[in-house]
Amino acid sequence: MTAPVLSVRGLSVRFLMPSGRRIAAVTDAHFDVAAGECLALVGESGCGKSVLASALLGLLPANAQAAGGAYLGDVDLLAADERTLARTVRGRLIGLIPQSPAAHLTPVRTVRSQLEETVVALTGTRGRAAVRQAAEAAAERAAFPAGHLDHHPHQLSGGLAQRAATALALIGNAPLLLADEPTTGLDRDLVHHTVDELRRQVDVGRRALLVITHDLAAAERIADRMAVMYAGRIVEISDATAFFGLPGPRHPYSRGLLGALPERDFIPIPGMPPELGDLPDGCAFAPRCERATPTCTTLPAAAAGLVCHHPHVTEDLRA
Ligand code: SF4
Repeated sequence: MTAPVLSVRGLSVRFLMPSGRRIAAVTDAHFDVAAGECLALVGESGCGKSVLASALLGLLPANAQAAGGAYLGDVDLLAADERTLARTVRGRLIGLIPQSPAAHLTPVRTVRSQLEETVVALTGTRGRAAVRQAAEAAAERAAFPAGHLDHHPHQLSGGLAQRAATALALIGNAPLLLADEPTTGLDRDLVHHTVDELRRQVDVGRRALLVITHDLAAAERIADRMAVMYAGRIVEISDATAFFGLPGPRHPYSRGLLGALPERDFIPIPGMPPELGDLPDGCAFAPRCERATPTCTTLPAAAAGLVCHHPHVTEDLRA
């Protein structure tokens, strides 16, 4: 892998609740994302993946405490102050593609005016003609049709709103794109279109892309590598081709996620994820895991991209 654009090292996030409870939303996350690479961070709702995204953007609420490091160039995103995050990071180093593009856009202004404002703020372009040209170029990069530039967000389809949000995210030429559930609420055709557009930005723009999603079909279409999160921990990091093909995932939870898909075995994982405020001392997946043994009451150490005492071994998986 080429030098990482983003390096996350031991990232943990705790929420301190008014009652005194501590919620372990993210625990000891480690991963890299390189230029021209897409890492998909997947897991069930509430597993901590969007909290992780908020930590990278410096958008955690006041009752959250983050520890560890997240390095983007020479900036430690966790240590940076709000001024640095606002002026240097958001938009310029990280382009955010939001979960609800229509809600992300300002409803009372046209797409063109929002693009032009972002061009001025992020690129320093001056002069009416130059700003207009840069905004139109940004729209074109995201395949947003010029004929819709003077429309307001409510006049756009879901797909066009997504492209408008992508165009805004690309203006600062950020080396890292962060897409937080970019396919939520879209029909399957639009999902394919959206992830293909994002993939194009990775391939053509040589950007690093971190996609946070619960949509495994979308992840299969776009990702180079997979990171699977359960109860706040990344339990497996794997090459996407091996993950979705042979030999398949090695962590029991990852295998359960894949097996639950209708186009696979259509067998749901039994039970429910644990409360993040009441995690067991050992492996949090143990109550739902058919491979659990008494050893699993102790926390497994991370090794070779896996956090599990009894991962499936390659020979098992090929049998
Ligand atoms: S550590 Fe044990 S309980 Fe946890 S996933 Fe691995 S085998 Fe299952």
